Amino acid sequence: MLTTYRARLFFYTILLTTFLVATLAYTYIYSRDAILEQAKYNLSNTARLLTGNIEMEENGLLHHAEMIRDDPRIQEYMYMVTKIGAEEDALRRLFKRDFSWLPVERFVFLDLNGQPRLNTQNADLANAVQEHMRQSQNKIFYAQSSHGLELIAWASISYQGTPLGTIAITHLLDSNWLSQHQNYSGGHLFIEQHNIVQLSSLPESEGKTFLPRSNSIVMNGTIYQVRAIPLVGENMGTPHLWHGISEQEVLRQLKRHSQIIFALAILGSFATLTVGLMIARDFNRPLNQLMKITRAVTRGALPMMDRAVETNEIDTLSNRFSEMLQSLREKQEEIDRAHKRLEESAITDSLTGLHNRRYLKQIFPQLFAQTQREAHCLSGLMLDVDYFKRINDQYGHLVGDQCLAHMGEVLKESCRASDYIFRMGGEEFLILSLNDTALGGHILAEKIRSTLEKNPVTYKQELINMTTSIGMGLTENQLDAEAALTTLLFHADKALYAAKNNGRNQVVVFSTTLQSAKPW
Ligand code: GH3
Ligand code: MG
Ligand code: MG
Repeated sequence: MLTTYRARLFFYTILLTTFLVATLAYTYIYSRDAILEQAKYNLSNTARLLTGNIEMEENGLLHHAEMIRDDPRIQEYMYMVTKIGAEEDALRRLFKRDFSWLPVERFVFLDLNGQPRLNTQNADLANAVQEHMRQSQNKIFYAQSSHGLELIAWASISYQGTPLGTIAITHLLDSNWLSQHQNYSGGHLFIEQHNIVQLSSLPESEGKTFLPRSNSIVMNGTIYQVRAIPLVGENMGTPHLWHGISEQEVLRQLKRHSQIIFALAILGSFATLTVGLMIARDFNRPLNQLMKITRAVTRGALPMMDRAVETNEIDTLSNRFSEMLQSLREKQEEIDRAHKRLEESAITDSLTGLHNRRYLKQIFPQLFAQTQREAHCLSGLMLDVDYFKRINDQYGHLVGDQCLAHMGEVLKESCRASDYIFRMGGEEFLILSLNDTALGGHILAEKIRSTLEKNPVTYKQELINMTTSIGMGLTENQLDAEAALTTLLFHADKALYAAKNNGRNQVVVFSTTLQSAKPW
């Protein structure tokens, strides 16, 4: 399990990618909660702001009611209307002149009996005020009328300590009011009664069911986070005011956020994986090459290895390995050369530089096969220097050696590159010559004989004449290589005996009549 570096690296990459994805997922979940929390916080803030503003409006309306109550002319006129029984026109004109500027939807004066005295058409308002006054001391309340939801403020009017009646003014929570408040709240306002939207800044929600669950409702397929805005003097019968913010914006934010996180996760994982795989590949390639080379070295090869540009430790290792291979190759070449020299010296005669008898055994099978293949004639010339003993005796061994070296030179010069020349021992030589016919070998033998005769060795201004006797034999094709060599040497020997016996310095070609020739 995870024994190779590649597996480990891959494992770490996967681990890192998982960690990255987990981190991003956690960030996503956490920030999602944070966004939702923030949205809820914003909603509460706006609800508080709305409540404050509405309270200000309520106080404003109450203040206006009290302004009317405290007006001495109004009190006087009210006194005249209710106590003296004067016409209401004067009171109406006065009210119109002094208070028509007030942002008031409706108004009504009530006498002590609760009868509407001005604006009798607003009897419903008068009734609502009377009803309210019976239940509560609160001078401000909300009521639903045929006009809609109204904020009603009232104040008791008296004149010089005598109670006269009541002034009630209203402010209608109509669509204008809703849109005005909706503008700064960034959401929507709903007036709901008995779980039905009566009026809303979102017109399509009007008449729809309004049943909040966990502070949220679904309206036309959109989720709204809602908060109730408390209305003063609210009771079971009056409608409720709600403020709602669409979750759509929050969801859009969340969606964008999740897309970014998702893209980051994909990109991050991809980048981590790519980098990991690139490192693994960078790691792998030189290691694979090194492993391939070491396998080759184990098999005995010393392959060439390209040098790498050193950018990391593995490159350095590769280069050191390449240098090691280079020096091993050089050592191997040295050994090969020494070996070749050794091999050559094993098959070379040191005095003449010609091949020796050992090489004859080695090369003959190949030469014999060639002869058979090409249907040529392989001649074997056996040479023995005539009266060589005398040279040794007369001039000494060293001069004798010199004469043998001279003999070698003559042979090399007389033969073709395709001929093989061997020193068989002492002053005996053998030439193997491949020709079309036996005549070629004979001509070569004659050429050698006459060249040696004509080229004496010069020693201390003295000329040492040398001659050689040559016996020539031919291979017989039906025999195997070993037997062929034995026969060839035997025949050449026999011919050489004959040449010696015939008086030396001559060439004799073997014939069956020589079969029984005796050594000279
Ligand atoms: P022939 O062959 O004509 O019958 O007479 P020969 O005097 O050459 O007789 P033989 O072949 O028997 O003598 C060969 C002599 O060659 C014997 C030996 O002293 C000498 N000899 C053999 N090997 C070497 C060598 O490596 N160097 C020298 N200087 N002499 C050698
Ligand atoms: Mg001899
Ligand atoms: Mg001899």
